[in-house]
Amino acid sequence: MSTEHETTPSSFSDLGLPDHLDQAVSRLGYTQPTPIQEKMIPHVLEGRDVVGQAQTGTGKTAAFALPMLAKLKTAKSREPQVLVLAPTRELAIQVADSFSDYSKHLKKIHVLPIFGGQDYNVQLRQLQKGCQIVVGTPGRVMDHIRRGSLKMDSIHSLVLDEADEMLRMGFLDDVEWILDQLPGREQTALFSATMPVNIRKIAQKYLHQPVEITIESKAVTANTVEQRCLITSGGFASKIDALGKILESEDFDGVLIFVRTKLQTVELAEKISALGYSTTALNGDIQQSQRLRTIEQLKTGKIDILVATDVAARGLDVNDLSHVI
Ligand code: AMP
Repeated sequence: MSTEHETTPSSFSDLGLPDHLDQAVSRLGYTQPTPIQEKMIPHVLEGRDVVGQAQTGTGKTAAFALPMLAKLKTAKSREPQVLVLAPTRELAIQVADSFSDYSKHLKKIHVLPIFGGQDYNVQLRQLQKGCQIVVGTPGRVMDHIRRGSLKMDSIHSLVLDEADEMLRMGFLDDVEWILDQLPGREQTALFSATMPVNIRKIAQKYLHQPVEITIESKAVTANTVEQRCLITSGGFASKIDALGKILESEDFDGVLIFVRTKLQTVELAEKISALGYSTTALNGDIQQSQRLRTIEQLKTGKIDILVATDVAARGLDVNDLSHVI
């Protein structure tokens, strides 16, 4: 999916990042920093705590990942230094991938996503081998702290990504518990699309005079996307009927269909499969390994249609979808 950025005239080289990171972003095709990157990177490099009110799509990941990579302490080579908490496994994986992309040329940097649903042994082995950056969902991070497998002493930087989403998913107590376990925390960055009272309280309690950066989210629609609306009457059955007709008449490449409940993902996927399309349901009850496989299958064209709840689909990064319904 493509993302549109409101870019500003400054360049990455003005932001104070080391050359190797300038080169990494330019290899990825980033020509200019997005507004949140331009405003936030210098403060994070300076060591300030930051609060970013910004949504996915604004480039917020690079806004914290680039300066935090620049600030890694090389002496503590294989101990975790940066911990990122993210609400979902998909977002954790996506953020870990971004850290890896930006640090690909640095041989000794290891980034580890840890999330519920994945085999403990795999994570334990990787934690044992060592890594500087851990990106995890709160529940699993807590488990590893309790087991003693995730060492907290050397973590100097913490990021709370999509804090309002963590609140919505009931992770706030876990997040606070984790915040209380970080004796060496020097810097904290908190990102949230919205700022409900509970998130403000966390910022007040745990952040030290944070710089606040708000990126107004304009409801932009990429002009490459054509939007259509079809109104049906007669409930689920007539929607399925209409959907069948759309699929028959449209040329499509990859289709993502959103429904509200887990049950509907399964029901609808079964109905569409019965029409002869290769379709799979994606919801929070499906095992993580299977979810990753499903997303891979959509990416490689082995599945045409994915029926998902918005929670399960958060952080999906799939190119070449022709239709979202
Ligand atoms: P995020 O808001 O962090 O989820 O980023 C959204 C997308 O924008 C990701 O695919 C990034 O790779 C991409 N991106 C981030 N910063 C830039 C930039 N300065 N120029 C172009 N693309 C970017």
